Amino acid sequence: MKTKFGVIVFSVIVSVLFAPGAWSGAVRHPGGEDQDYVPTGRGWGVPDTLIEGAQKRSSRTTVKTSNGINYHGGPLMLGTPNVYYIWYGNWSGNTAINILDNLAFTLGGSPYYNINTTYYDGSNRKVSNALAAPASTTDNYSRGTALTDNDVLTIVTNSISSGTLPKDSNGIYVVLTSADVNETSGFCTQYCGWHSHANILGMDAKFAFVGNADRCPNACAAQTSSSPNGNIGADAMASTIAHEVDEAVTDPDLNAWYDTRGYENADKCAWKFGTVYKTANGSSANMNLGGLNYLIQQNWLNAGGGKCASSY
Ligand SMILES: [Zn+2]
Repeated sequence: MKTKFGVIVFSVIVSVLFAPGAWSGAVRHPGGEDQDYVPTGRGWGVPDTLIEGAQKRSSRTTVKTSNGINYHGGPLMLGTPNVYYIWYGNWSGNTAINILDNLAFTLGGSPYYNINTTYYDGSNRKVSNALAAPASTTDNYSRGTALTDNDVLTIVTNSISSGTLPKDSNGIYVVLTSADVNETSGFCTQYCGWHSHANILGMDAKFAFVGNADRCPNACAAQTSSSPNGNIGADAMASTIAHEVDEAVTDPDLNAWYDTRGYENADKCAWKFGTVYKTANGSSANMNLGGLNYLIQQNWLNAGGGKCASSY
């Protein structure tokens, strides 16, 4: 998921380098000439030739919908996916634990999460309005305070190989970093969180990074003076976690649901919140889950022509 300010410079470079040229008509794509971009899991797409080239393209079976988002043949996360938090760094005494645990316990089954049930695979099997959060763990700075993307993968791998978290191909492992930790590939400057997948111990593991927005509230928090649960960083993380989970279940391997720009479902509605109400402390929220108010960015409804929605 991009920061509030997006990645404008990157986008400009991409469109300059890859704008359709005189010869574009000579390179016909199976899904049509607008099927040029694939997701990165970070809130923007890149030309598919930059990712896996011919292999990706030839294996693709695009199903175009009339809803502004298309299916590219890859798997979805069905049944009841399990969300596993890995609390990295120092979270002691932080109310984030309660705020974000409550989110993991109550997101599944909510009217908001129900939007994901409008997504289906090639056998017409739909995402369920169900999530579970059976376990979480902590990591005491095993990779220091400046993480690379590979460090995030290592943190997830270690949590599984040590037996601390189960090896679960229907799991989403979410690394949550405390505010003193940076993710050096672009946290706070290009994105607030991302999701990806990798082979871990022979399993196609789905995982995500979500950093504490207290590190950069101007880039990664929708509200910077007050927030529904009195924790600006954690309340912003709730929105980013929901965004990444929406994408992980509908596009776990980055080859299922995304639009012609390479935007996944939640990317299409990043930083849009729809109708909001005032909470007791004067901040804005748009949904109550398990007794707590949250301001969660909208998700793309894959029905009725498509739109950003807070519920379905
Ligand atoms: Zn995203």
